[in-house]
Amino acid sequence: MLTVAAARAFLLGAAGAHAAAHHTHAVHEILPTLEANGRVLAVSQASQLDVPPMDNTQMDGYAVRAADCASGSARLKVSQRIPAGHVGSALLPGTVARIFTGAMIPPGADAVVMQEACEAEKAADGDYVTVRHAPADGEWIRRAGEDIRTGAEILVVGTRLRAQELGLAASVGLASLPVVRKLRVAVFFTGDELAMPGEPLKPGAIYNSNRFMLRGLLENLGCTLTDFGIVPDTLEATRDTLRRAAREHDLIITSGGVSVGEEDHIKPAVEAEGRLNMWQIAVKPGKPLAFGEVRRSIDPADGHAFFMGLPGNPVSSFVTFLLFVRPFMLRLQGVRDVLPKSFAMRADFAWPKADRRNEFLRARMNEQGGLDLFGNQSSGVLTSTVWGDGLIDNPAGQTIAPGDTVQFLPFSALLG
Ligand code: AMP
Ligand code: MG
Repeated sequence: MLTVAAARAFLLGAAGAHAAAHHTHAVHEILPTLEANGRVLAVSQASQLDVPPMDNTQMDGYAVRAADCASGSARLKVSQRIPAGHVGSALLPGTVARIFTGAMIPPGADAVVMQEACEAEKAADGDYVTVRHAPADGEWIRRAGEDIRTGAEILVVGTRLRAQELGLAASVGLASLPVVRKLRVAVFFTGDELAMPGEPLKPGAIYNSNRFMLRGLLENLGCTLTDFGIVPDTLEATRDTLRRAAREHDLIITSGGVSVGEEDHIKPAVEAEGRLNMWQIAVKPGKPLAFGEVRRSIDPADGHAFFMGLPGNPVSSFVTFLLFVRPFMLRLQGVRDVLPKSFAMRADFAWPKADRRNEFLRARMNEQGGLDLFGNQSSGVLTSTVWGDGLIDNPAGQTIAPGDTVQFLPFSALLG
């Protein structure tokens, strides 16, 4: 049996090689920055300007020459008013400028005193202010280039663009961004027992929960998705669907039928239409995982679609998607950081029976800063994934006693 790490290393190697071989402009597109949320940056970006672009004030108050205010109660004439977005004129010695947050510091000023430390006064010959604070040089001034210097690399190729990356790109004026083309993913579900919600449940049937779960996972990752629905448990139907799916997709994902029973047709179908590695991975849940490729046509120049066959048990399917499919899909798009960080947390439960496999236990954070375990860890019990906040990555052969430190992978880091 393969370890989780070995299986993942193999998958990431294959995805990385494919991404490198296809790293051409043909697989990039230029998108308005406003539409690039969730996409993967295809080319590193540098800033063409300083951010902030000019020295500006962090407070509402008065722009001053610090030397004029050294006494701690200087009465000075207000010579100008500078709202944000407006440009003042040079500050004459002995005068101050009324100034508002974000406004450019006028030449000659070297500090800002916040309005709370000042007493304004209207006199016959104009406005005056008594400054009751001796500011340090540069006080309350945000310097040009304090955040970003012209020429600095702000976003690296392979970064997934989230809200904060989009904000950063916009702050340096980038109106559009080169992003990796979305992956085209085909999915189908094997199992003659499967019915769709909305249909009556005949004897022996169950609802196709994996269809909803896997589609949700795929939508969160942001791909172009084709759903071929439920495919009958026959070799011919499975082969036919694989052929149709391979033509215009980068990756085919299936649910169920990956064991080696008489009703499991995934293995022979993929072998007939391409190549397959059937892996027994030392992981629980999710032991069988199929990985391979399906030819696009009889012409080898057309290449292939990758294939990943997930087990039918819903929790196995969910966990194998998170552990293997998600990082594979991200690496195919050139993403560097594809594995989320796990957190060391305290177990508030006992898990006295060690397993020979690396287990991924559904657990929930409690208010005491520890983890509680869901009572039924069976691979068919989807309730555990709804109750839980994430997975405990428990090494093979490891028991857990209350108070032990375990490694926790929150769903929040795995589902996006
Ligand atoms: P299989 O991997 O096809 O042997 O299926 C293993 C178990 O998962 C069986 O109990 C199936 O009924 C169940 N199963 C298979 N596909 C699905 C699905 N799409 N939704 C829910 N359960 C499924
Ligand atoms: Mg089946």
